[in-house]
Amino acid sequence: MIIENFFQIFGQVLVLITIGLLSLLIIALILGKILIKKDVLIFPKLIVFSLDVFYSPLKRVAKSLGFDDNMVDHIGVEVRNKINEKKFRQIKNNNKILVLPHCLRHQKCEATLNEMGLNCNCCGKCSIGVIKPKAESIGYKVFIIPGSTFIKKIIKENKFEAVLGVACYEDLNLSMMKLSGFNPQGVLLSRTGCFKTKVDVKTVLEKIGYETKKDYKLNYSLSNDIDLCVDEKIKKV
Ligand code: SF4
Repeated sequence: MIIENFFQIFGQVLVLITIGLLSLLIIALILGKILIKKDVLIFPKLIVFSLDVFYSPLKRVAKSLGFDDNMVDHIGVEVRNKINEKKFRQIKNNNKILVLPHCLRHQKCEATLNEMGLNCNCCGKCSIGVIKPKAESIGYKVFIIPGSTFIKKIIKENKFEAVLGVACYEDLNLSMMKLSGFNPQGVLLSRTGCFKTKVDVKTVLEKIGYETKKDYKLNYSLSNDIDLCVDEKIKKV
């Protein structure tokens, strides 16, 4: 009898926990959607907590509710951007790093790879060659990496307080999750994939605080195609 009662209560508690958890996940998804659509941040810590602790279940819930596959990661990136934006801006540029994915490189890129990533010589064939020198000119250390495993090495061998990353939805969200102690900011790739990816250069430069107005050459390129892949545009300038 006592054992029967125990299992009955245990079952009821389990059902209540499951309902509570599902409600929490659905609330987190709704709040995240509101942030993306209306730019209103409500209970950001609740969203981040749900994303960090229940990342996989949240993705399954989102999928079963018929949401876009990338929605959970998109919410994660947007919430983390909002939460960390102010602190990121307050940190000096020479304490910040910029991490770019090597899939942005031009298919004829001749840069070699070392233990810290791609050794780009800014040949100008791709958007990395536009972003890197400008970021470095205002104090950032720039890393172009083939995968998130390089992040561990970068953390181990460099001192920095803030990071701006560029990646696809999932990589960016998970990297920002891992780097939460470094006031992360993220920019999503505008075209994802394994190669020939694209990023909105203007968004990256704005995020790092680079003054684009003074840069005639850059403005010329950006005004022709915001979603810039520089190789063709450099020839026009
Ligand atoms: S600018 Fe692009 S293509 Fe040129 S070396 Fe750097 S990464 Fe490679």
